[in-house]
Amino acid sequence: MSDWSHKLLKWYEINKREMPWRGIGDPYKIWLSEVILQQTRVNQGWNYYNRFTEKYPTVTKLAAASEHDVLKLWQGLGYYSRARNMHHAAKEIATKHKGKFPADYESIRALKGVGDYTAAAISSIAYNLPYPVVDGNVLRVYSRVLGISTPIDSNEGKKKIWEAAGELLPDKNPGTYNQAIMELGSLCCTPKNPNCEECPIQAACYAFTHKLTDKLPIKTGKTKVRERYLNYVVITCGTKVLIRHRQGKDIWKGMYDFACIETEKAVSTEKLVKSKEWKELFATTKPVIEQVSEAYTHILSHQKLNANFIQIKISKPLKTVPEGCIWIEKKKIDKYALPRLIDNYISKYF
Ligand code: SF4
Repeated sequence: MSDWSHKLLKWYEINKREMPWRGIGDPYKIWLSEVILQQTRVNQGWNYYNRFTEKYPTVTKLAAASEHDVLKLWQGLGYYSRARNMHHAAKEIATKHKGKFPADYESIRALKGVGDYTAAAISSIAYNLPYPVVDGNVLRVYSRVLGISTPIDSNEGKKKIWEAAGELLPDKNPGTYNQAIMELGSLCCTPKNPNCEECPIQAACYAFTHKLTDKLPIKTGKTKVRERYLNYVVITCGTKVLIRHRQGKDIWKGMYDFACIETEKAVSTEKLVKSKEWKELFATTKPVIEQVSEAYTHILSHQKLNANFIQIKISKPLKTVPEGCIWIEKKKIDKYALPRLIDNYISKYF
């Protein structure tokens, strides 16, 4: 164990935040917390963790739930493939592993949606197995402490840090060490203005010694963002509204939104009503535009969604509804699993 590891562990014992998934040793709940906390702040994730553990206290209970119920409980957290994969993996555990959470790294890593990071976190925290966890916090801390200038968002940079993390991982209590280094990244070695004065490993830190804390880590920032223009057509008829069950490989699979005309760039409502798609949709009925929402921007990891919602009233149902669409009672829309963008619109306009 390196000299500074002792200091780090001591700091962790005193400074660690109390969280419901800490110190429990239950691999299912540790897994749940890890999946929830990917791309989610602790405060927000906490509520979701409590809701899930209350409704599904065991992995077999989660496996027995319907995908819709799992997505509904997940609603608002985003990155819905996490919930679908977790549900799928729970079913795998219920059948292939007879309801017992696997206890070795390879079997954990083989579960759907479980990558190197999550497998290492569960293995080390629940079973004390010696696997280093490398998340965004750990990449940043090691890049600074060890003075690694290879971009941390490149495969080469990740590999370098992952190897270093493996060498530095102590044999004793690797799970606690993994949590300590992540906690240091969250509380002390933050992306901007790290609190080096309070840092337990300041003396060993390359970036601090060389005044490079604002230069490291380096990122190439090559993530490509796809920009999309979604013109939602919210069709109501009496007390009913038409919603769409999303399928296929696109975002929000399994969740619900509305019929949509996607365009290459932003278009005005005047232009949209002249489009082929609009004319096809309303070929047999006369639409009355009741309302056009403000423009919404919604950011996903690799997509920027520009959306607006055109609320339409029709007096008789469409002859044929677009693929995946169903009529539901408008007041029951809250029962459906809705992406945050749709939920935001409904809260304001419904
Ligand atoms: S000294 Fe500063 S830069 Fe170095 S690990 Fe600590 S907080 Fe991060």
